Parts: sequence; structure tokens; C-alpha cells
Amino acid sequence: MPESAARNVMSTALPRRRIIIGGTAVAVALFSARARSQTPKVPKATAGYQDGPNNGQSCSGCGHFMAPASCALVDGAVSPQGWCKLFAAKT
Ligand code: SF4
Repeated sequence: MPESAARNVMSTALPRRRIIIGGTAVAVALFSARARSQTPKVPKATAGYQDGPNNGQSCSGCGHFMAPASCALVDGAVSPQGWCKLFAAKT
């Protein structure tokens, strides 16, 4: 291969390589962020969830509660009056 042709190949190959490496880094970052936001939740039975309060504690007073009726840790709909073993008082 003549020297000028080899230079042309190198000048187009490097930017392409940078684009591929950069694109891969972005894809990995997006996948990691998505994986973090989709951490599996615990089934209600595992968390010991019940529809009523326990000793004055209820989901509405828990830091994991997300109005109107879900929880950051427990799968499925939860009642504001419910409770489970993962209760952590709002601070
Ligand atoms: S008490 Fe349990 S189910 Fe209710 S919000 Fe807190 S962690 Fe979720």
C-alpha cells in the first residue's frame, strides 16, 4: 500500500475508533443508570406486608412510601395504612 493511502486509512480509522469507544462508554453509562433505577422489588410476602398499621407505624409514615400507593422496596400496590418489616420512619 502506498504511503499516502496508508495515511488516509489511519486518518479515517482513528476517528471511527474514537466514535465507537465513545459510543460504547455512553451505552454502558445508560445501561448502568437504567439497571440502578430498576432494582427488583421485594414481594409483599417476603417483606411481611399487611394492609393495616403495626404499633402506630404505617406506610404513609415510611420513607420508602411513594404516594399515592406504591413503595420503593416492595412490589405491587401498597396502602398508605399498610405496613411491612422494612418500615423506616420518614426523617
Ligand atoms: S412500610 Fe414497607 S411497604 Fe410500606 S412504604 Fe415502608 S417499606 Fe414500603
